[in-house]
Amino acid sequence: MFPDDETCAAYLEHLRWPGGFVCPACQAATTPWHQTRGRLVCPSCRHQSSVKAGTILDKTRTPLTTWFEAAWHVTTAKNGLSAKTLERTLGTRYRVAWAMLQRYRVAMVRAERERLSGDVEVDETLVGGVTKGGKRGRGTSKSIVVIAVELKQPKGFGRVRMRHVPDASGANLLPFVCDTVAPGAAILTDGWGGYNDLTSYGYTHKKTILSSSGDPAHVSMPGVHRVASLLKRWILGTHQGSIVPAHLQSYLEEFSFRFNRRTSRSRGLLFRRLMEQAAITGPIIEADVTHGYDWSRLQQKKRRRS
Ligand SMILES: [Zn+2]
Repeated sequence: MFPDDETCAAYLEHLRWPGGFVCPACQAATTPWHQTRGRLVCPSCRHQSSVKAGTILDKTRTPLTTWFEAAWHVTTAKNGLSAKTLERTLGTRYRVAWAMLQRYRVAMVRAERERLSGDVEVDETLVGGVTKGGKRGRGTSKSIVVIAVELKQPKGFGRVRMRHVPDASGANLLPFVCDTVAPGAAILTDGWGGYNDLTSYGYTHKKTILSSSGDPAHVSMPGVHRVASLLKRWILGTHQGSIVPAHLQSYLEEFSFRFNRRTSRSRGLLFRRLMEQAAITGPIIEADVTHGYDWSRLQQKKRRRS
């Protein structure tokens, strides 16, 4: 469907302005002049823009056809793919493959705006094999990831949200719940004190004290247990366990995006959803790609909106 950059640009233009082009400078709703290399010129004020400006594709030199091909692989491979595999598949440089994946991961988080509801299990897990300082085998440490999973009635799991936290104190756990779960939901946790204040934020808190019930963790927290084991398998399998802590959150977003759409039968729809988000998310600066995206910035933006 996308033989050249012009076709890709036309598709992005449609996703970005579904109701027709609006000039970012003078706000005129008009038909832009199309120039070479995807440039759009406003006929009223002559302002020059492009479909890429202000999106996750901003200021990248990679051809749109390569971006589209990457998105196709990201959304059709059942478990996604690593930058290494993408480099081989596309025949690009590793750096280019890595940068595209990082930018798509930021677009994925934007797709996850609605907060979870109903019965929601929340618990932390340790993700191991994450290397410190980016070099494998040196100072391997574990990172704490807090996971929220919707429980469906009578059985099964709904959507997930995840966050890499520095420690399991209430100062990290409570903001996570408030950001990702709608008030009024019932939160199921173990007896850990970090969750003690949940009721004062408008949640029903159902605590299961493990020692008194005698249940092993995977019986009392089946949702979190299941998701945590899938996550660990994905990190070990697709990414060979080599994730730098600064980038762990990006990987969690990608995992959640795919997990939350696991029942979506059409891969084409998944592709469209990702490109839709790519066209309205951004821009992302080079430092975000290199040093890890500042996810707290996005959370603050979300909080202001809600
Ligand atoms: Zn204009």
